[in-house]
Parts: sequence; structure tokens; C-alpha cells
Amino acid sequence: MRQCAILSKITLYFMQIKTATFVRGVTDNENLIRDDLPQIAFIGRSNVGKSSLINTLTNNKSLARKSATAGRTQEINFFLINGSQYFVDLPGYGYARGSMSQRDLITERIEGYLFNADIAHHAVVLIIDANVGMTESDLSMFQELAQHNAPVVIVANKIDKLNQSDKQKNITLIKQYAGQYPVVLFSSTKKTGVEELLSHIMEA
Ligand code: GDP
Repeated sequence: MRQCAILSKITLYFMQIKTATFVRGVTDNENLIRDDLPQIAFIGRSNVGKSSLINTLTNNKSLARKSATAGRTQEINFFLINGSQYFVDLPGYGYARGSMSQRDLITERIEGYLFNADIAHHAVVLIIDANVGMTESDLSMFQELAQHNAPVVIVANKIDKLNQSDKQKNITLIKQYAGQYPVVLFSSTKKTGVEELLSHIMEA
């Protein structure tokens, strides 16, 4: 029993994020980081709370830029975590405004990263707004990731906004779609699910 408690303390220590630094923002495939360090990607619709989630995980209020205008952050941003892995903030998808060619460009950029065989993907965190549930664009992103055998972890985000009965209903639905993939209930506002998510995504 005591051994278990010590072990979980050690695990928690290694999961902690001690340093998080911005490395670079990329708009083309050429400049993606392709070294041996594992990469943990964060993806979701614009305004799903992706920047807030990264800032919450890293305990840094301003590491990932919150988008004042949804869809504005169109770069792939690399952050070095504990000097040993990257968090990769991908542009938000499914943004209604903007021209078709602009949206195609963003989709191309996201897929060029996600399905790039040269990159050491350790986890892909697909963030869903738990209030809205899986939209058509979430579902098509999820299916594409599953087809490529990506190591997906689904986050049901902003759960603080749900009342008990909606929470039950929406989460059940998200879990049905998720099938064998883990689903973490998360809230940046209430700091819910931080340790659970880190336990799924951090390289030991
Ligand atoms: P991004 O566009 O996906 O990076 O989303 P942001 O992190 O900029 O957040 C979009 C909006 O959702 C902002 O108004 C945030 O304050 C809000 N938000 C983000 N996370 C949460 C959360 O856990 N709960 C609630 N209630 N609002 C959130």
C-alpha cells in the first residue's frame, strides 16, 4: 500500500511541467521540427479553449496565445516542455469565416503535420467542446486520425459550463463516439482533469 503511494508520488513528480518555452511558429512543412523528441499535438475547433488548456497544463497564463478573434492563430506553434518533449499547438479548424482557399490552406497545414511520417507523434489531444458535443468537423477529424492509427486522447472541454444532466448526456455521447480512445473531462476555469490528462500524454 505504502509502496503504491510512493510510486504514485514519483509518477506525479515526473508528470509535472517544470519548464515550458516557445520554440517557433511554423506556416510551412519545411520548418516543422523533426528531431527525436516526442511531440504531443493539440487540435480542436477554433474557440474550443485550446490555448487556455495549454496554458493550464503548463501553469503559464500566457504561453499559448488566446485568440482574440477566432481563427486568427494559424501557425503551428512548438513549445519545449521540460527540455524533453514538445507541445504542438495546431491551428483551430472548422472556422466558418474566411475564404474557402484560406480554410483549405489551414486544413492542409494541420494534415501536413499530423500525418507526417517523419514526426515522432507521442499523443494527439483532440479537444471537443462538451457543451456543443462532437460536431461534423470534429467527427471527420477524429475519423481521419483513427484511420491513421494516431495515438488520440479526447478532451471533453469546458465541463464547468454543463449542468449535471447535460453533462451525463453529452459525455455519454462523446464516449460512444470515442470507442476505445480515452476521454478526459476537462475545465481550464476549474482546473479539472489536469493530472488525468498529463498522465495520458506525458512521456515518462
Ligand atoms: P482557442 O481559440 O481554442 O485557443 O480558445 P481560447 O483558449 O482562446 O478560449 C476561447 C474562449 O473559451 C475564451 O473566451 C475562454 O475564456 C473560454 N474558455 C476556455 N476554456 C474554458 C473552460 O474550461 N471553461 C469555460 N467556461 N470557458 C473556457
